[in-house]
Amino acid sequence: MASITMSELVKVYPGGVRALDSIDLTVEDGEFFALLGPSGCGKTTLLRTIAGLESASGGGIRIGERDVTRLAPGQRDVAMVFQDYALFPHMTVTDNIAYPLKIKKVPTAERGAKAAETAAELGLSDYLARRPGQLSGGQQQRVALARAMACHPKVFLFDEPLSNLDARMRLEARTFLKRLQRELGVTTVFVTHDQAEALALADRIAVMEGGRIRQLGSPKEVFHRPANTFVASFIGSTPMNLLDAVVTGKTLAVGEEPVALPREYAGSVTDGEKLVLGIRPEYLAYSTEQVPGALHGEITVVENLGSAQLATLHGPAGFVQAVVDEETTLSLGDRGWAVPRADRVLLYRDGDLIGAREGAGSAT
Ligand code: ATP
Repeated sequence: MASITMSELVKVYPGGVRALDSIDLTVEDGEFFALLGPSGCGKTTLLRTIAGLESASGGGIRIGERDVTRLAPGQRDVAMVFQDYALFPHMTVTDNIAYPLKIKKVPTAERGAKAAETAAELGLSDYLARRPGQLSGGQQQRVALARAMACHPKVFLFDEPLSNLDARMRLEARTFLKRLQRELGVTTVFVTHDQAEALALADRIAVMEGGRIRQLGSPKEVFHRPANTFVASFIGSTPMNLLDAVVTGKTLAVGEEPVALPREYAGSVTDGEKLVLGIRPEYLAYSTEQVPGALHGEITVVENLGSAQLATLHGPAGFVQAVVDEETTLSLGDRGWAVPRADRVLLYRDGDLIGAREGAGSAT
């Protein structure tokens, strides 16, 4: 097992795209680490550079004590699982799993035994003689995992390995993957653009944008204390409300609304200052009657979330979204009031969270 340390890692593609812009990051030994961000932010490039499938343009990578920056992929002791699994269609499950062992010149009998053993661990024993085309998506994914495991690598690198599965299989495979990683204890870097997947699986998450890390932290840190408005708007199944606010004495004027200034911010803001107030829809208490300190508006959209509803209110503060319990009757055109939970109010100055703690805050 091993940690992965990236120092001032840069990748510039031919043509000049700077896909990685001086990444400093340590993935700890045994950690399940997610790289998360929108399309084009550089997460696949970072994964492929760790694997050695892309060469670094600057900076370095260490796996454990070893500087692997200039080593070929086969010498890095890493195993990668690709989005499309990259299985050999003409080979059986056994031969697919045993393939990396063949490359390592492990004797045939030992290869077969090792492949069968790994297949058994992943519940694939009944499919050893089949070819990938005769397997479901979930089973193919397990074959790809088994192939990665067979060599006992120091590091697993996963490039969106769940994205080809349907929603139900995806949830099952997610739980399976988390359990497997815990049991094996192998340092794992997982690329996804699905924030729910990253929050569910990872010990820590790096949220990337434009080749840089915008926040590094635990799922709870990035969810509850997004370090900047980029992360705030990217994380969460219903996006955070980000509203213009002006400090007015002990309150925040949001639209025409005086919202209480949370005590923790009292010493850090100045009267008249323009800020952005962040509040997740889950932390707005909805009322059908006027309440002091509430954001009000007319209901313009109601979305069914299953066990709750998402109401969009349009009022002086702009558009505000609130999660409302399933029992409340919401009708388009009704007036509603949404009170922010004081301990969940976040304030951003020039896009950065005020009072972000060291280590939980921006990594750039
Ligand atoms: P996605 O989620 O869409 O896969 P990503 O976050 O993984 O995106 P990358 O694939 O790492 O992003 O791409 C980062 C940037 O580098 C993008 O601007 C992309 O267009 C560019 N890029 C990626 N591969 C190459 C390449 N081979 N040549 C030139 N530019 C590239």
